[in-house]
Amino acid sequence: MTAIGTAELKRMFDAIATAIEADKDRLCQLDGVIGDADHGIAMALGFNAARDALAALDLAAIEPTALLNTAAKSFLNAVGASSGPLYATALMRAAAAVKGKATLAADDVIAMVQAMAQGIKDRGKAEIGEKTMIDAWQPAAEAAAAAHAAGKSLAESLQAALTAAERGAEATKDMIAAKGRSSRLGERSLGHIDPGAASAVTVIGAMRSSLN
Ligand code: ADP
Ligand code: MG
Repeated sequence: MTAIGTAELKRMFDAIATAIEADKDRLCQLDGVIGDADHGIAMALGFNAARDALAALDLAAIEPTALLNTAAKSFLNAVGASSGPLYATALMRAAAAVKGKATLAADDVIAMVQAMAQGIKDRGKAEIGEKTMIDAWQPAAEAAAAAHAAGKSLAESLQAALTAAERGAEATKDMIAAKGRSSRLGERSLGHIDPGAASAVTVIGAMRSSLN
């Protein structure tokens, strides 16, 4: 693996924006069932804004932390829905996790993924089983860390994260929403995938395919 610098991180945000844009309608449909049908729009606005803000940066002159903080700020400013502060916090925590590094090694990328999951958890105060994006992000971060600790490559560790996120998102079908807008539905939220968990799979999948 080559070290990951600002150019690679920018490519990662390009990949996420492209993947979310392609998934926008499905995410809105999922949110239409148990929420207010805007999740795909919110995520696309956020990641398109992040991509555009990064395009204006002088990548040679900044470190990964500054790039990630720029992405966080632009995401927050672009998104009015609850996913705005959740992903902005994830990205700010990612920035803090790699502070002072000129480039990122596999360790740092794993730390970044863990910081993102923890940031969402802290901001949203959601636990596993409450039918939110945490049901995808937390197992993904844990699987990435476990694979890395077991000596797997970064690509393999991110693949483990993706597989865990997919399984976690699928499991939200059998959960009753306890956080966010869909919690108002109570048992009527049963049987449907949480849109935030679904988009987490898309984000993590784009990270996996762009970072190796
Ligand atoms: P809104 O609900 O404001 O319309 P979005 O549609 O963009 O926001 O996002 C909805 C998603 O946000 C949900 O599917 C869920 O995954 C996630 N979410 C909502 N509240 C929380 C929370 N407190 N913690 C973690 N994730 C949450
Ligand atoms: Mg919504």
